[in-house]
Amino acid sequence: MNGWRAKLTLFLMLILIAVGGQAADVAWNYSGNLGPDNWGSLDPSFALCDDGQSQSPIDIATFNVDEQVVAQFELNYQNAPALLLNNGHTIEMEYETGSFMEFNENLYELLQFHFHAPSEHTINGQPFAMEMHLVHLCGRCFFAGQNDAIVVLGLLIEEGPTNQDLASIWTGLPGTAGEEVHLESTFNALSVLPDDLTTYRYNGSLTTPPCTEGVGWLLLRETITMSASQINFFKTLLSNSCCDFNNRPVQPLNGRVVTLDVGMD
Ligand SMILES: [Zn+2]
Repeated sequence: MNGWRAKLTLFLMLILIAVGGQAADVAWNYSGNLGPDNWGSLDPSFALCDDGQSQSPIDIATFNVDEQVVAQFELNYQNAPALLLNNGHTIEMEYETGSFMEFNENLYELLQFHFHAPSEHTINGQPFAMEMHLVHLCGRCFFAGQNDAIVVLGLLIEEGPTNQDLASIWTGLPGTAGEEVHLESTFNALSVLPDDLTTYRYNGSLTTPPCTEGVGWLLLRETITMSASQINFFKTLLSNSCCDFNNRPVQPLNGRVVTLDVGMD
């Protein structure tokens, strides 16, 4: 195990321990007895999936967002070796150490990005074809016990023109649960993001067990496209290795405020 993966594993173990559970290898899925309605009772460490009051994803009602002038985040992502993993719930690219988001005067390291089909967040009740999540961790924040040690940058994907930026990794996506693929090419997640980085922001959770709260969500307002065949390719791999869909249903807002950035430079 090389350095960054050891560090990643340590972080993830600490996160699981921090929410009061073991790093339990408990089976869960997206439908039936192991589906989202039952996650909270599958293991004590998954209790927040049932009891949490700040869960993700949510529906974003655009008439109800609170426009705020906020500091923009800065993305400093590097080209990274394309290491793709099918973890049995999604397919992700594990990002080599050294790519950061600067946010609220903290440095958040990009750990990985992965995909959901259909989208997890909805806008005015409307789902999208897919959603990409870029997961960041502020190690210093985590060890200091601060909220928002994890920040997820979310990106909604609509069916449309072929996504040339994702094409280089798409054909190499591993289709078997547990399978890992190392492509010879490198990839930079920055290439996928839209020009306009305006986001909806709210405090939420991981959208998978153990549904850990204190996750800062930044959902980009501008969407990107993928072609029908790119979307169908992902869905086929998902059906073969996991499930026909891998989106958790939207969760109650419980009075949380959703903001939208305005007046950024
Ligand atoms: Zn996700």
